[in-house]
Formats: sequence, C-alpha cells, structure tokens
Amino acid sequence: MKRTRVRFAPSPTGPLHMGGVRTALYNYLYAKQKGGDFLLRIEDTDSHRFVPGAEQYIIDALAWCGITPDEGVKDGKIVETADERNPHAPYRQSQRRQIYREYAERLVAGGFAYYAFDTPEELEASRREAEARKETFIYNAATRQKLRNSLTLDAGQVQRLLAERSDWTIRFRMPEDETVEMDDLIRGHMSVHTGTLDDKVLWKRADELPTYHLANIVDDHLMAISDVIRGEEWLPSLPLHVLLYRAFGWERPQFAHLPLLLKPVGNGKLSKRDGDKLGFPVFPLSWTGADGETCRGYREDGYFPEAFVNLLAMLGWNPGTEQELFSLDELTAAFSLDKVSKSGAKFNPDKAKWYNKEYLRRKDDGVLADLLLPMLAAEGIETTKGYVEKVISLTKERATFVSDFRDIARCLFTAPQQYDEKDSAKFGAFLPQAVEAMRAASDAATLEAYIREHDMPMGKVMNGIRLALTGAASGLGIGDILSCIGLPEALRRLETCKEKIWKE
Ligand code: GLU
Repeated sequence: MKRTRVRFAPSPTGPLHMGGVRTALYNYLYAKQKGGDFLLRIEDTDSHRFVPGAEQYIIDALAWCGITPDEGVKDGKIVETADERNPHAPYRQSQRRQIYREYAERLVAGGFAYYAFDTPEELEASRREAEARKETFIYNAATRQKLRNSLTLDAGQVQRLLAERSDWTIRFRMPEDETVEMDDLIRGHMSVHTGTLDDKVLWKRADELPTYHLANIVDDHLMAISDVIRGEEWLPSLPLHVLLYRAFGWERPQFAHLPLLLKPVGNGKLSKRDGDKLGFPVFPLSWTGADGETCRGYREDGYFPEAFVNLLAMLGWNPGTEQELFSLDELTAAFSLDKVSKSGAKFNPDKAKWYNKEYLRRKDDGVLADLLLPMLAAEGIETTKGYVEKVISLTKERATFVSDFRDIARCLFTAPQQYDEKDSAKFGAFLPQAVEAMRAASDAATLEAYIREHDMPMGKVMNGIRLALTGAASGLGIGDILSCIGLPEALRRLETCKEKIWKE
C-alpha cells in the first residue's frame, strides 16, 4: 500500500486563521493515524499577497498547538536545503521557481496548454465587449480562437513574441465539452462540465513564477502526496487539478474538502470582524500587521493549546459518541474523514470557553500556580507557590482562565483597596459587632457560634465581615478566606474597614 503523505500548504498572506489551523490539524491527525507523514509547504508564489512575518506565524502557531510537521520545518524554520528527513527541500515555493517552468512547457508541448500574449488592456476590452452583450467574458474554447495566443498565431510569430515580450503567460487548454468526474473523501462523487471552466493561467513570464494551480500540482506530485485535505474554498479548483494530473499522466491523490467554519450568528464564513464584534479571537496567536492592525489570539487570551486543539477538532468532525474531551493522541486514534460533515460548522464562543474551563479543572494545582505566579508578580503581589496552590484548590471551580484566579481570589492576595458603596451602606453599621466577633473567634465555626450566642443578626454581621475581607458582600466563603489569610490579617482588615466606613 502507498504510504500516506499529506501536506498543509498555506500561503503566507497574513496571520493564519483558526480555520487554517483546523485544516492543518485534520491533515496531521489523518497522517499520524495511518503512520504516515505530515508536511508543511509554504505556497508563496503570489508575490502581491506576500506578508512579512506570516510564514513564521504559521510555524509558531502549529508549534503552539503541538502539530509537529515531519517534513518542511527544522529548528522552527522552513527547510531550504535537503537532508535525510527533508528530501524535498526547499519547502518554500518561491525557492523552487526553476522547477515549474519545465513542467509548464511540458504541458504546452503535449497540447494541454498554450502561450497567451493578450495584454491586460486587450483582456479588459474583451471583457467590456462581452458585458455590452450582457455576457461574461471567459477565456475558454469559445473565445481563445479569437485571442492572441499560440493556438491562433503562426509558429514564427509565437517565437518572436516569446523572445520579445516579457508579459506572456502559459494557460491551461480546458478541454471542450467534457465532463470531469471527481471523487472526494467527504463529499463523494461529483462531476463538472468543462463548459463552465476557463483556461487558467499556469505560469507567468512577468515574474517567472507559476500560479497556485501549477505549483500546487507539481509539488504534490514531486513530494509524493497521497491525500489532499484542504478547505472547501478550493473545491472549484478541483476539476482543473484533476485535469492537470491527467495531462501530466500522473496518478492523482485522493481529495477531501473540509467544511467552512461559520459565524456564531447569521450566515457566512467566520471572520475577524465576528470575533471583534462578539469578543473572541479567530487566530491562534496574537498578531500586529505592518499596517498596525492587531488581531487577538487564543494563546494570549489565556487558552490552553490542548483546549484550543480539542475545540477545533470538534468543529466539523464528531466522534460518533458523546465524548467531547480528547487529547491530541486520543484525537489521532478516533479521527476519521467519514465523520467530517459536509455542511459548515458554526463556531460557538461559549463552547470554546467551556473547553478551556474543563481543561483548567483537570490541571494540576502546581501547574496552574506556575502560570499564575508571574501574573501576580506583574501586579506587585508577593506570595509563595504553596499559598497560590491553596488558593487555586479553593477557587478552581469558578475559573475558566488562569487569569480568572487573580480576579476571583484577589482578596486572598491583597486587602481590599475600596469597598462597594451599596454594601457599605447596608452592612457598615454592623462592623463593630463584626470586629467583636472576629476578636473572639478562632475559626469560621467559632465565629458563627459567637454571633449566635450574642444574639447578633447573623446575616448582616456575616456580610459586614465579608465586606471588610473582600470589599463586597459577595464572593468567596468566609471559611475559605479565613483559612487562607488567617485570623490576624482578617482582624486587621475588619479594623481598617470599620475605621474607614463606620459612622455612629
Ligand atoms: N496555498 C493554498 C492555500 O493557501 C493551498 C490550497 C491547497 O491545500 O491545495 O490555502
């Protein structure tokens, strides 16, 4: 059997969207399950859309998720020189440019492609003429005979133009009146009539670079890719790709087109704007573009990479059971393309938070403490790991992110700086009794007993205590607070509070 080899082939046109990370993840899971290889290849032949930093972002985002390529990346960089593990280097298409021309010429020689000399102005004129007739111009069998290309010009003219001009292209000669039959591992069998397709540009003399279509097919062939798993937006390119494989006489890989990630509300693709509007990230890592535009990232928002990977996996795939929590290894074992849905997957930001909360609950208190300690230090809070662990164990069920501890448990690290106004008005009058009870108490139980025995109004005095300890009459239980901060500190806080807000 053929070895399974898949690739993630992003174009470095900006930060990688979470939908792109999901494509990488599904490729990775598919390959790992079959004991195959997962490659990263950078498709940067469109120089107009190239964005500096985007390539490194892709590498870093995959690394954060634990999606490790078998080929294409070494020491956090794209491999440029072949070695034993990376025999197909360079894995960046702009460095493979000398490869593609030969393949484009091969197609011309076989009659599957031709040289086209139309200038942008001539094409624009054809477009306008068609529009005047209320038609849309497409470069295909119906129009190519009237245009300037190697099918209409004589050989001498063609040679002259090839030598003189530097703006010609090589176009695919889309077969006329044919039905292309295609299979997709998710969508099943499909067919498309070539009458709806155009003669796509494959190679451009202007920058001596292939277009996406040619480079993608050539590299998938040279890199022995067995399965192409990619976003649904590439489905319209599939007939051309199938025809290119046929023209080259190459065996084609299997294809699978993944459903789109959809907005939480309404219709359409999940976009950065949805995230900005509803307050959630749509990128794995934060990003600042050269234009100063910023994107928030799951990592910086406090998500655990395992939670992010888990929630991504479930967007468009289901295991066929009730299980929702999966480690990367469990996903690898359970994943299959036949359980990927054909329709788009609606993103639910609340569910994303739920995943993080579940992962946080399962984390060791010591691990969480190590993450929380620097956040506390940044606020000038001095404490110990042991103490932070204790605080975490008491408040774990209330937190979704590690940073939540800082806010939920603030009063366990520092005395309140101010007191809630409403609560002060309501319970301030009971502070003298609260101080008296606290002085007599040795823990929460004796505190309560004292209040009861001395006929003090239980609820009000307790709320007065809570106000003094935390700054408001709600939040953590008094017993928990006392067990962390201790009686002397509690008494100090009560006395300070009484001094500040109690009026006779
Ligand atoms: N370079 C394409 C992209 O940016 C790759 C599509 C494919 O996987 O064939 O998504």
